[in-house]
This record gives sequence, C-alpha cells and structure tokens, in this order.
Amino acid sequence: MQKLIQGIHRFQDMVFAPRQDFFRKLAEGQAPQALFITCSDSRVVPDLICQTDPGDLFVIRNAGNIIPPYVPGTSCGVAATVEYGLKVLKIPHIVVCGHTNCGAMNAVMDIEMTAELPSVRQWLGYAQASASIVRTCYQHLPPDKQRRVVVQENVLVQLEHLRTHPAVAAALASQQLTLHAWVYKMETGEVFAYDSSSGQFELLRRDREATSGWSHEPPLASPQGVRHACVDL
Ligand SMILES: [Zn+2]
Repeated sequence: MQKLIQGIHRFQDMVFAPRQDFFRKLAEGQAPQALFITCSDSRVVPDLICQTDPGDLFVIRNAGNIIPPYVPGTSCGVAATVEYGLKVLKIPHIVVCGHTNCGAMNAVMDIEMTAELPSVRQWLGYAQASASIVRTCYQHLPPDKQRRVVVQENVLVQLEHLRTHPAVAAALASQQLTLHAWVYKMETGEVFAYDSSSGQFELLRRDREATSGWSHEPPLASPQGVRHACVDL
C-alpha cells in the first residue's frame, strides 16, 4: 500500500499541480471519445496503452472483458454503464479489447480451473460460446494456440452480445456508433484490430482511420466465410 500512498502524493505534486486548469475544466463535465471495455487484468492499462488523458475513455472492466447479452426485465453493471455511456454521454465509439495471457480465457478453455470459484464459473458462462467456437473450428491447433485464438474469438462474441443491448442497436442503426474489436499483445505492447474485410485481427496500423471499425455489418464472417483467427498474435 505504501506504493499507492506515495503515488497519490507524487500525482498531486508532479501531475495535478502543473495541469490544474485542465483538471478543473474536467470537473465541469465529461465527453469521452470512446467506451473502452477490457479485462480487469492489472497488466492491461487502457490510458497507458492508448496514451489517453483523464476524460478520454469511459471504461468498463471485468474478468474476460465480458458483456452479458441483454435480458429484458433485468440489468447488470455492464448494461447500465453501456446505456449511460451511449444515451447520456453520446459516446461515438466502443472498443472491446481482449489481451494475450488472459487468465479468464484460459479458464474458459479449462473450466475445471474454476472448480472452487463458483462466481467466476458462472460469469465465464457468458464466454462459453467462445470456447465452443474454438473447440469446433480450431480443433487442429495445440492447446497453447487455442488459448491465443479464444482471446480473439471472445472479443467478437462479446461484441455480438453488445449488439443485443437496445441502446447499442439504436446507435448502430442510426449510424452514431462504431464498434472496434482489439486484442492487446502484452508481450510486445502491440494492439491488433479486427478487420472485417479480411476477417482477421491485424496489427493496428498507424494510419488506420477511426471509422474503420464497423457500424452495422456483422463482423464475424470473413470474405471466404471461414473463421481464421490470427494464430501468431
Ligand atoms: Zn484477462
């Protein structure tokens, strides 16, 4: 805890004090550029990876960057935060960002790891489709490659869940929202973005345009209709 306490004082002296005007302005309201949905993993730090400032990213984090599908008559923290971000803050982009070496995704592929973790097991049920896709379409791959692929397939599955939320469906239909599927490769610091024209995650290029996510077309089928995750990611 000492590291945290020292850090707070260093933040106040070295970061906040020189940019007081910026922080005071922020206190008046927020207009984030993107809703960033990622894993709780301590090694994935959205503002560090994207080099964004306070106020830039509206963030949802949980084990496995999971978005439960919309269920009428119920709510959860993810659903409420997505709804607020779109309907009140009018956020124009949503990024779902998985990451390599994800403990949640390893557990999805080997559910016995959660034998003593009933809450985790239940939560990861929302990612069972991801494991099922990998076991069906990538059964020729060894387990370590399958663990890399399930991270990518899970980002796409969770984006499909996201579309079932009324606020998302409406924003997509009115072309006010663009969705982005990313995977952060923690070994190299690289980010791979799903390209719906190739049907594959590809290294995020410097010149990639913000509008090159997708706004309405289904992302899953590649031009050949074949699933082919980037196994080297
Ligand atoms: Zn993770």
